[in-house]
Order: sequence, then C-alpha cells, then structure tokens
Amino acid sequence: MAATSRGSAPEPPDVRPRLTVLSGPSGVGKSTVVAHLRKVHPEVWLSVSATTRKPRPGERDGVQYYFVSDEEFDKLIANGELLEWAEFAGNRYGTPRHAVLERLEAGEPVLLEIDLQGARLVRESMPEAQLVFLAPPSWDELVRRLTGRGTEPPEVIERRLEAAKIELAAEAEFDTTLVNTSVEDVARELLALMQVV
Ligand code: ADP
Ligand code: 5GP
Repeated sequence: MAATSRGSAPEPPDVRPRLTVLSGPSGVGKSTVVAHLRKVHPEVWLSVSATTRKPRPGERDGVQYYFVSDEEFDKLIANGELLEWAEFAGNRYGTPRHAVLERLEAGEPVLLEIDLQGARLVRESMPEAQLVFLAPPSWDELVRRLTGRGTEPPEVIERRLEAAKIELAAEAEFDTTLVNTSVEDVARELLALMQVV
C-alpha cells in the first residue's frame, strides 16, 4: 500500500541556516556588499547595530546604525539589550537582541555584519550560526580601499589596519571565506549561503 501515513512521518530536519554573520577587516567592503545585497533582495533582514561612533557623512540614525552616546550604550549593556557587543578601534558596537530573536523565532533569515570579537561571541551563544569571512584580494588592496574611502583620519586608519592584521589571522575560525573581488559576485554567493536564492 502506498505510504499515506502523513501524520507519522518525521519532518525532514530544517537545515536552512537561520543566522549568518558577516565579518572581515575594516575596509574590505562589508557595507558595500550588504548594501548591494539589500538592493537586489530588499526582503533580506539586516540587524542594525548600536554604536558610539560618530556618523560618517551620509549615514543616518536607524539606517546604518543607531548612533548613541556612551551613557546610552552603558544602559543597553546594563539592561541586557545587546546580544553581543565589542569595542573596535576606539568605539563600541552592539547588536540589539530583541529584533534579532524576533526574526529568528519567525523563521526568517538574519544577517549580522559585525567584527571578529562579535562573531566569536555569537558562535559561543548560538553555535548553529553560520560565520562568513569577507577577505580582501590582497593586503595592498585592503589598504587602498580603507584609505580611498576617505572617511577616517590617518591615525584611525592605522588603528583599523592593526585590527585588520588580527582579523585576517582568524580567517580559519570561519565556516566560509568569500574574497571580495567583485561586489556582485560576493553578494550572490552570500545570498546562496543564506539560502535566500
Ligand atoms: P567595510 O564596510 O568592510 O569597512 P566598505 O564597504 O566601506 O568597507 O568599503 C571600503 C571601500 O572599498 C569603499 O570605498 C568601497 O567603495 C570600496 N569597495 C568595496 N568593495 C569593493 C570591490 N569589490 N572592489 C573595489 N572597491 C571596493
Ligand atoms: P565601522 O565603524 O567601519 O562601521 O565598523 C567597524 C567594525 O565594527 C566593523 O568590523 C563592523 O563589522 C563592526 N560592527 C558593526 N556593528 C557591530 C556590532 O553590533 N557588534 C560588533 N561586535 N561589531 C560590529
């Protein structure tokens, strides 16, 4: 007899990675890739972090970041409102917990664009998260991009390049590496890893 025992067959395991973390050194192109990805797939939900960094020209509160004071950031930590947070090159950055958990509970894919320390914290608290490392085609190209962006003074660029050496050395901790040669290609590969397309 044909198998009609619909109710008794176990559901296939849901292997769709729900939470994807994108990390990589400052200047590698994370924001550019994410902006492109959201242009082609606006339905992809990206967590908006809180930061004590000052906005760059063109950045808007609630869009790229929630720009907060040191005191406000202290409160977010004290109230347990951050899923993870880290200090990076003199500023603090954190992922608001509530919005992320809400999306995950609804079964929607979630993308976090955070630094190495944050990626490690997420791996500890959510081992099922998928960690993706965005690498530059070369060190010289990373320096060119970070300098060419023109958003930081030389001493901040130096600090970020120091952090970049540490981040690049941690690539093996990630599940996947994507090399950012072409923004379009990387965005497509990232969407495929998230199983959005
Ligand atoms: P991150 O968010 O990782 O700090 P950005 O997205 O701000 O980096 O990119 C840094 C600079 O590199 C920007 O000026 C951006 O236009 C440029 N960039 C990003 N991706 C590429 C690429 N694939 N090829 C050339 N330049 C790129
Ligand atoms: P930027 O100042 O260039 O926007 O970001 C600096 C670094 O902070 C980048 O590596 C970025 O991925 C990281 N970052 C942004 N938001 C968060 C966050 O919520 N948590 C952590 N840990 N890092 C973040």
